[in-house]
Amino acid sequence: MLTIYSDKHRLHHGTELKDGVLKPCFEMPGRADTVLQRIRTVGLGEVIAPDHFDVSAYARVHSERYVRFLQQAWANWQAMGRQHDALPLTWPVRDMRTDIEPIHIDGKLGFYAMDAGVPITAGTWEAVSTSADLALTGMSRINAGANAAFALCRPPGHHAATEYMGGYCYLNNAAIAAQGFIDRGAKRVAVLDVDYHHGNGTQTIFYDRSDVMFISLHGDPLHSYPYFLGHKDEQGRGEGLGFNHNYPLPHGTDWASYQPALQAACRQLIDYAPDALVVSLGVDTFKDDPISQFRLDNEDYLHMGALLASVGKPTLFVMEGGYMVDDIGINAVNVLQGFEGS
Ligand SMILES: [Zn+2]
Repeated sequence: MLTIYSDKHRLHHGTELKDGVLKPCFEMPGRADTVLQRIRTVGLGEVIAPDHFDVSAYARVHSERYVRFLQQAWANWQAMGRQHDALPLTWPVRDMRTDIEPIHIDGKLGFYAMDAGVPITAGTWEAVSTSADLALTGMSRINAGANAAFALCRPPGHHAATEYMGGYCYLNNAAIAAQGFIDRGAKRVAVLDVDYHHGNGTQTIFYDRSDVMFISLHGDPLHSYPYFLGHKDEQGRGEGLGFNHNYPLPHGTDWASYQPALQAACRQLIDYAPDALVVSLGVDTFKDDPISQFRLDNEDYLHMGALLASVGKPTLFVMEGGYMVDDIGINAVNVLQGFEGS
């Protein structure tokens, strides 16, 4: 399988507020490095650099002012004489105004963020825009006839919505790629999100649409981040009603209880018959993941890949989460090898 990768992900590495302490993000450069190493070890296939895309491709699913904010945030932060990572600290919760964008950078950061897990550093924009380009390059290869491709995206994207960042995510790589398929003539695209955390950003972006189906298997938001979206009764709205499917699963879910949910999701994908499938591939469902609560084991990811192949559609894998760095390479590449039947 073709992999699209760039070293530029290393330009982004920041701190997050976690357990009441400011500490280095679990989402770190070693993650992508480990996956790339595993790809080379098993000889998965060619590894190519991304093509460059214009920001207008990102603005197909994000607002223009949000993309502009991401581009300018570090410069605005530095202009205040600040050197540490930019992090938000005030949010427009219920009953506050969200129709007026603040001018002060602290106001902007809160306006465009859902949490304090999205540091902006000097290299963040270059890393996140390159990450989106990896997904777009994979999309364009599949559009040109490839059966599958793997965009080794870092930072991940599925928590980022039209106008906000969150959970280590800035641009929604999977959504940008799904929209890219539509813009090149696809009638229907499906996004399947197997990351431990609900893909709130992707769901929100496509919630009113029937041309992009979104399905997510994840830790129940009653107990797991992102807490405020991902329940079973969220089924889409308007024209999108019936095209959004959530499978919230309890703590301790192992393959025996995960597999039937994934199989049900695959049946829905087969019924929908998309022209292309985008898989938001997070492997933080692993039993030793430091921030998640499922119990999938290394070999389960081979079975996951085989099930995804049974959908029988051209498939773009987009890297999302997975924080047990020692195993992220084995688990992610096991899905890809399982898909290829090797
Ligand atoms: Zn995750």
